[in-house]
Amino acid sequence: MAGVRVRFAPSPTGRIHVGNARGALINWLFARRHGGDVLLRLDDTDRERSTEAFALGVEEDLRWLGLDWDDYARQSDRFDRYAAAAERLKAAGRLYPCYETDEENQLKRFQQVAAGGMQIYDRAALRLSDKQRRVFESEGRKPHWRFLIEYKETSWVDGVRGRQVFHGSKLSDPVLIRADGTPTYTLASVVDDTELAVTHVIRGEDHVANTAVQLQIFEALGAVESINFAHFTLLTDTGGHNLSKRLGSLSIESLRDEGLSPMSINALLARLGTADPIEPVIDLRDLVAGFDLSRFGRAAPKLDVDEIRRLNAAIVHDLPFERVRGELARLSLGGVDEAFWNAVRANLDRIADAGEWWRICREPLAPVITEPDFVAAAAGLLPPEPWSSSTWPDWTRAVGAATGRKGKALFLPLRLALTAREHGPELKTLLPILGRARAQARLRGEAA
Ligand code: GLU
Repeated sequence: MAGVRVRFAPSPTGRIHVGNARGALINWLFARRHGGDVLLRLDDTDRERSTEAFALGVEEDLRWLGLDWDDYARQSDRFDRYAAAAERLKAAGRLYPCYETDEENQLKRFQQVAAGGMQIYDRAALRLSDKQRRVFESEGRKPHWRFLIEYKETSWVDGVRGRQVFHGSKLSDPVLIRADGTPTYTLASVVDDTELAVTHVIRGEDHVANTAVQLQIFEALGAVESINFAHFTLLTDTGGHNLSKRLGSLSIESLRDEGLSPMSINALLARLGTADPIEPVIDLRDLVAGFDLSRFGRAAPKLDVDEIRRLNAAIVHDLPFERVRGELARLSLGGVDEAFWNAVRANLDRIADAGEWWRICREPLAPVITEPDFVAAAAGLLPPEPWSSSTWPDWTRAVGAATGRKGKALFLPLRLALTAREHGPELKTLLPILGRARAQARLRGEAA
């Protein structure tokens, strides 16, 4: 596919959650799979709810996930482009002024819902006489402007849903210009997708009807390039409810603060909703090769955060030292070396948990002595250094022979004395890291 260009278009009215991140990831994987570009577009036409802090936060979250972009735009920088497009629509007779107040529009919608109908604007404004319009203007009312939908069929072949057909009579004329003169997302998005040369609009299914409306706006603006559309099914929580930005626990920021890795989130989100297996992938590039939009089905996938946690543990178990060096330094664990990482990683749920084992190996600890005579006897049999991975099996064999113990009775008191934990990384690898002096002191019950 030549010249693929997608966009991820978050509204900076909050931080992004896993559902938004999934949209970004799907776009990113699609673009990278086809050698295309990613445009990050901040949909900030709503000046009241959009903030600079959220805009920066969204960018930070995307970078942390590893989802980079090739081009960047903010709708608030492009208001002149939208105004120019609105003028063209007015000239073509496709944009008409309406004088209803917000309350009046809301009341109309309530009445339609109460009557069991669809929320479709009744086009009352088209029936206003010039005189009525003048009266509204003299009252100081400013018009908002609606796009005149044509009552005809609009169709497209959706990358996920297949052929979609909408009849114009089932669509409501959308407001494109608010009473304060600012453009709405509906217009801005069409102008941007055209002028910024987007080839594929890939977004959630909550935008399917929007696409029918926006296709008519593309056409009215004479946008001849054909844009491809795909709408994926939205994630729900485990109870089957929509995810909203208010679900703080599912924000990317909070998952990061919990110590989960970006790839645990990406690995799940890339496959959720497809029949493909969810695997602990450690590199984003490994998700690119097999990526195929048509693998996404129509059933709503459920998101279970525990699945991210399980994937995270599986990923951490496989992470080579060079992939965690930077993160360890950020966690003030810069002293951790490759041997230590390799010794503990299979026992960690999160990279940060390496800190606990680092402290156990490097800082004084009160040993747990359950059987003083036995561990003292074992201390007496510790071989001289240098120690290697064969020290533990050689030593415990000797201790077993001298005391007649085996299995748990042999190993558990030693583990408790050496680490003060019942479980943990293999002692074969930990023992050389602890070193003889510390091991011997702990076996004698000294805090060392
Ligand atoms: N800002 C819109 C949203 O977050 C973007 C929709 C689109 O991709 O066109 O829903």
